[in-house]
Amino acid sequence: MSLTLHGIGVSKGVAIGKVFILKHDQIEVNEHTLSKHSLDEEIARFENALTIARTQLQRLRTQIPKNSKVDFESFLEAHLLMLDDSMLTRAPIELIQQHRCNAEWALKIQCEHIVEVFAQMEDPYLSARRNDVEQVVARVQRILRGYTEMSSESPESFMDTIVVADDLSPADTVLMQHYGILAFVTEYGGATSHTAILARSLGIPAIVNLSRIRSYIRPDDLLIVDGFRGIVIVAPDDTSLHYYQQRQKEEKRQRAILGKLKSAPVVTLDGTPITLHANIEFPEDMEAVKRVGGEGIGLYRTEFLYMNREQPPNEEEHLEAYLSVIKALKGGTVTIRTLDLGADKQIDSKRQERPLATNPALGLRAIRLCLKDLKLFKPQLRAILRAAAEGPVRMMIPMVSSIQELLQVRKLIAEVGEDLTQRAIPFNPQVSLGAMIEIPAMAICTDLFATQVDFFSIGTNDLIQYTLALDRVDGSVNYLYDPLHPAVLRLIKISIDAANKANKAISMCGEMASDSRYVRLLLGLGLRSFSVHPEAFLEIKQIINNSDLTGLARLANKTLKIYSPNEINKLLEIINSLPG
Ligand code: PEP
Ligand code: MG
Repeated sequence: MSLTLHGIGVSKGVAIGKVFILKHDQIEVNEHTLSKHSLDEEIARFENALTIARTQLQRLRTQIPKNSKVDFESFLEAHLLMLDDSMLTRAPIELIQQHRCNAEWALKIQCEHIVEVFAQMEDPYLSARRNDVEQVVARVQRILRGYTEMSSESPESFMDTIVVADDLSPADTVLMQHYGILAFVTEYGGATSHTAILARSLGIPAIVNLSRIRSYIRPDDLLIVDGFRGIVIVAPDDTSLHYYQQRQKEEKRQRAILGKLKSAPVVTLDGTPITLHANIEFPEDMEAVKRVGGEGIGLYRTEFLYMNREQPPNEEEHLEAYLSVIKALKGGTVTIRTLDLGADKQIDSKRQERPLATNPALGLRAIRLCLKDLKLFKPQLRAILRAAAEGPVRMMIPMVSSIQELLQVRKLIAEVGEDLTQRAIPFNPQVSLGAMIEIPAMAICTDLFATQVDFFSIGTNDLIQYTLALDRVDGSVNYLYDPLHPAVLRLIKISIDAANKANKAISMCGEMASDSRYVRLLLGLGLRSFSVHPEAFLEIKQIINNSDLTGLARLANKTLKIYSPNEINKLLEIINSLPG
């Protein structure tokens, strides 16, 4: 029987395919004491599980996708090394012998011990390695419990499936893109989580916050995912199947129509030129940017360079990534955003990540983390300065909340520049420095910050999170997420006006800019520069090119004074239905 379930559609599109259920949940460990004569048997069972785990990882290593954006090799290598380390091979056996505990229990005790040691390490990178230990232990626990090991599946088994999981980290999503999945659905997550953003930029239909979906489906069930409406249909009947197959055809047709806009200039009907740039996460995303005719990058999220690998990238790796984007752009500007790790962007795909702080989104994230950990930050700074000697590069700082942070960045740029000069390494000391407007304090004081930066970019994902005090990854407060809240619109307006007055460029690279419903409103509020993910690029261009600015400002400014969501929505409808 067919069943329809509702979640939050976070990435548009329709997918029809068989389900692949990911099991990430914590494993319940049975704890019991063994009789003396069964100890040898238990040790043999434990050693056998280790052998199977090694075989699984070795097999995975042979299946690393070609052209992988992710350093799977060192990721798997580290896990294999851990499986050979006496902390995991000998210590649990000693526990079995001394305390007569079963293998699962012994492994659990030893894991807790190791995690404690890692957690006490001051170096945040090393302390984060505890996740690897937990991941390896979880693998062995699953084998001991006789579970089918999800990650031992060959990448081909994901091909053309719809992945359903409790939750996916951004790093998981990055891994999955190589596996040719059609769509994904998760039980948790918010609309502007980085996982959702990645799904949009990869063009994979996705639905989040579909509570308990895994209890309604079985492996290999046929699913329809409607990312537009946030609907999943389990075991669809012929009528639904036919309807959605038609929708897929229609989508394809629409894409072909939009494709014709690829080389058209971006200019409103009244002749105002608008800057339209693209957001990327990896240098490889330049292929998608070129496909849609993008000529500049308004947001390069560099933190993805750090994910799913053992060591952070060194200066040369940074440089190589930046140069490949510069080369692909052929003279177009690339806005490199410095590392924005922390909160929901952790460096590996571990499920059982524990927050390093009670409120990670308010903690040591982005520029705060960078200024605290110069070993992490300086190689990136050096690489950006060096890349800026090779092409038009801008450096953008995320999550700025105080002038002090910008002054510190400027000081570091000078320091790093001095060292590069001494070593006779070419670099550009005049690189443009910009700040993201993501924190209300910053938006309100845009005029003051304008003295310290060359440009601004509004990051609405965080600006909305921090203005409305809602965690962007928490699906349970997603109903509060509202780009049309007058507080958000006022902050956007204040920022645009202040930047214009100070003669500083201002753009928007948050998801609001990629949402077709808000383009005319933002034009009306005075925005003249957008940076959007490649999948949305042509649709946004089409709307800009079909908009007449005359009269838009008057209507848009009205939204700043309306409290009722219904009225704002009505006004938005009027704005969007103005003849183009
Ligand atoms: C934003 O906050 O709007 C933004 C573009 O940055 P990110 O989504 O990477 O936090
Ligand atoms: Mg942000």
